[in-house]
Amino acid sequence: MGIRTGSEYVESLRDGRSIFVNGERVKDVTRYDPFRGIVATMASLYDLQHERIGELTFPSPRDGAPVSASFLMADSIEAAERRARAEEIRADHTFGLMGRMPDFCNALLTDAATAHAFVGRREARYGENLVRYYEEVRDRDWCLTHTLVDPQIDRSKGPAEQDDPFAALRLVRETDAGIVVRGAKMLSTLAPFANEIWVGPFYPRRPGEEPYALCFAIRMDTPGLKFICRETYDTGRSRFDRPLSSRFDEEDALAVFDDVLVPWERVFINGDVEIFNSLMARTPGYAMLQGAIRGMVKLRFLAGLACHLAEAIGRADTPHLQAQIGETIANAEALSGLIRAGAHEVTWGATRGTPHRSLAATLWVLIPQMQMRAAEVIRQLSGSGLIMTPTEKDFAHPEIGAYLEKYLRGKNLGARDRVRLFKLAWDMIGEPFGSRQLQYEWFYSGDPYFTRARFYRSPIAREFKSMVGRLLRDE
Ligand SMILES: Cc1cc2nc3c(=O)[nH]c(=O)nc-3n(C[C@H](O)[C@H](O)[C@H](O)COP(=O)(O)OP(=O)(O)OC[C@H]3O[C@@H](n4cnc5c(N)ncnc54)[C@H](O)[C@@H]3O)c2cc1C
Repeated sequence: MGIRTGSEYVESLRDGRSIFVNGERVKDVTRYDPFRGIVATMASLYDLQHERIGELTFPSPRDGAPVSASFLMADSIEAAERRARAEEIRADHTFGLMGRMPDFCNALLTDAATAHAFVGRREARYGENLVRYYEEVRDRDWCLTHTLVDPQIDRSKGPAEQDDPFAALRLVRETDAGIVVRGAKMLSTLAPFANEIWVGPFYPRRPGEEPYALCFAIRMDTPGLKFICRETYDTGRSRFDRPLSSRFDEEDALAVFDDVLVPWERVFINGDVEIFNSLMARTPGYAMLQGAIRGMVKLRFLAGLACHLAEAIGRADTPHLQAQIGETIANAEALSGLIRAGAHEVTWGATRGTPHRSLAATLWVLIPQMQMRAAEVIRQLSGSGLIMTPTEKDFAHPEIGAYLEKYLRGKNLGARDRVRLFKLAWDMIGEPFGSRQLQYEWFYSGDPYFTRARFYRSPIAREFKSMVGRLLRDE
């Protein structure tokens, strides 16, 4: 056991899973054309672990085999920095473009397993299940997708008040073998390319919503489990025409549970609203750290892209463009410092249970803002260059190719290279792939207004208010 190779990973996706795309059931996700690019990218992440084994793995406490550093329970700053370095290398491999690369769920599961005593405080078996599951995923190098949120339907009502109380995923009954669940969850990014699905807590449940307070994990080919994917963004265009959609479309799906049996050993929370609502606040914050690292890497990529675009059209000396690009670079640098602080915070979280305040502020508030701003900078500096991007076939056409070479060249680069660069920018912020990236960054950590309001409702607001009280009392 231990880390898998890319080909072992690809082979593991050939099971009986139910994946639907564009009105058809995809029998083998590894041989479905629109998925080939992303499957290859995912496989390369697994191979990378072997190529850089010293940086990306640590010995499993169980048998000493190398396992991914994203499972490391970091109880020292050195260990947390090791985690962070490994996650940065892997995020860099995908330019920060895959929000749910395996490291994210690995970190999420490690977070949850760290809080096993809390999970098992009323029924010890649930905490034990969690630890056993964490060890199994770590040692087998499984890839997880996760799904946390109820279908939107009518957000003015809770899950139990909807017309159909089984719309949101809920418990149907308990049996000797496990729990039977029915309903749906959304979204489930990476679903076609994962080995297991993690269903866990996110938005709080209220008393009376116990049947909806569930946390468990099951195999992707579990009977009754179906995934309905959104349209794929890889439409078979060349690398030249769609440099990102053709490689990094991690897919999103609606997860449907049609009376699915979850074995008891895979159940972690079953109806306990208090544990459901508090679990993630009791974790060290490994998933937040991973999310922030991935966000930082992507911002670096966007800043680099903005520099290239400005140079290509001879605007690199323009002060207001320098200021805007400089802002993006400065944001990425600020994140780098916040992530170093975050590594300390997860260490304190793992050892003393201190809440991860600055990591939450970074991930929930700063990163979504910075991502939106970076995309706006690229849009504004690019002008028509973002739109006038003929295809590879246009360049090859004998009648028009020479015109394109002449009129679409850049300040210091030929037309093909300039168009390639702007196509990259358009794929990044304009094409369905890029539009989805923006939507994703905004909702990456949940509804950004909800997450901001959590700061307002937290004890921090009282601390800050008390300063004002102190001044007023001093009159
Ligand atoms: C590309 C993408 C990928 C995703 N991948 C995953 C994944 O892999 N796993 C997963 O679990 N989830 C995933 N999600 C879902 C994500 O967690 C949710 O989008 C997020 O939590 C917000 O929930 P929602 O989409 O239901 O929006 P809502 O919560 O329905 O929000 C819609 C709007 O309503 C507003 N609103 C919210 N509450 C109130 C209120 N009380 N009063 C007034 N207005 C309000 C919000 O501010 C927002 O503007 C993904 C989302 C996207 C966009």
